Amino acid sequence: MTNANARNQMWEWTGFNAMAPREAERADVGPGQVEVRIRAIGICGTDLHIMSGHAEFGKPPLPLGHELAGVVERVGAGVASWRAGDRVCVDPLTACGACEACLAGNKHRCLDSGEFGLHYPGGWQRFMVVPAANLYLLPDAVGFAEATQAETLHCCLGGIDKLDVRIGDQATVVGDGPTGLYFVQLLKAAGAGKVRMIGMRDYRLRLARELGADETTNLRDPDAIPPASNAQDIVIDAAGTETSLAQSIDILKIGGRLLLFGLAGKPITVDMQTVVLKELSLLGSTNAPHVWPRVIQMLAAGQARVKPLLTHTYTFGEMDKAIAFARSQTDEAIKIIVSIDDNQEESQ
Ligand SMILES: [Zn+2]
Ligand SMILES: [Zn+2]
Repeated sequence: MTNANARNQMWEWTGFNAMAPREAERADVGPGQVEVRIRAIGICGTDLHIMSGHAEFGKPPLPLGHELAGVVERVGAGVASWRAGDRVCVDPLTACGACEACLAGNKHRCLDSGEFGLHYPGGWQRFMVVPAANLYLLPDAVGFAEATQAETLHCCLGGIDKLDVRIGDQATVVGDGPTGLYFVQLLKAAGAGKVRMIGMRDYRLRLARELGADETTNLRDPDAIPPASNAQDIVIDAAGTETSLAQSIDILKIGGRLLLFGLAGKPITVDMQTVVLKELSLLGSTNAPHVWPRVIQMLAAGQARVKPLLTHTYTFGEMDKAIAFARSQTDEAIKIIVSIDDNQEESQ
């Protein structure tokens, strides 16, 4: 159904919590670049933060969208690894490619790194041009909507790698957002023994149990038994608040490992004396470019279940409705996907 002359349609973030559709010529595909026909877009909390002006990334007008999957449409000169029709997901992180961090495979540590959809135009577009090296081939078993979650999962898997999980470790995830629900599954896959989740939303805690959590605690439930102090080998703070961090430090055993993953968005107070006296290891983690191939394998093998998190789907024309719904923060809305199927394409 390829129409080489089709124009590009996009949604742009235009100002404080505002967005608008726009039509434009499609971008040229330069040497080393690939044009992707976007087929699914994950809506992320980061999109909402950017739109509200609380994140200092790019400036409007800007198409957002960094959780992306689609089909290769055109390839630029010198690109031998991709051909039209390949099903792909997009690693949105780009960097200089030449510095010490980039050459070591850590482009996320490059001082010039940035992300499509955060700093540069992202995937709220029908057609998006990206460097060929930013694409990963999708096995047939992995659908486009699921594949949008490779971006989030790769951040989570990078964190899990740093924790060096041992079989039987007692582990707790603090925070019941999408990353928390992925961390529960990855801890189990990595061999942790009892895995607990601490959160504040029953619907999500129930889902955590379905996805493998052995125990959950709802902090809002006055009858809930509080998690025991000094009991966990591993804690992942996927919430990133002063309260979640204090709780994480409290429930860790002496010598425990704490993965700091959630972002507080501001300086917060930490009881460092306890960190020292308990000899805790604190590990910060963001991206992990080298784990992408394993994430794709993990999705294909069903080691991480994504579909139960994909609770709501909208069409590309309804992007503004999808964002408004995401902003309403309904407990049941875990991951919202904007899906672009063949029928929509033919009718536009
Ligand atoms: Zn995201
Ligand atoms: Zn670099």
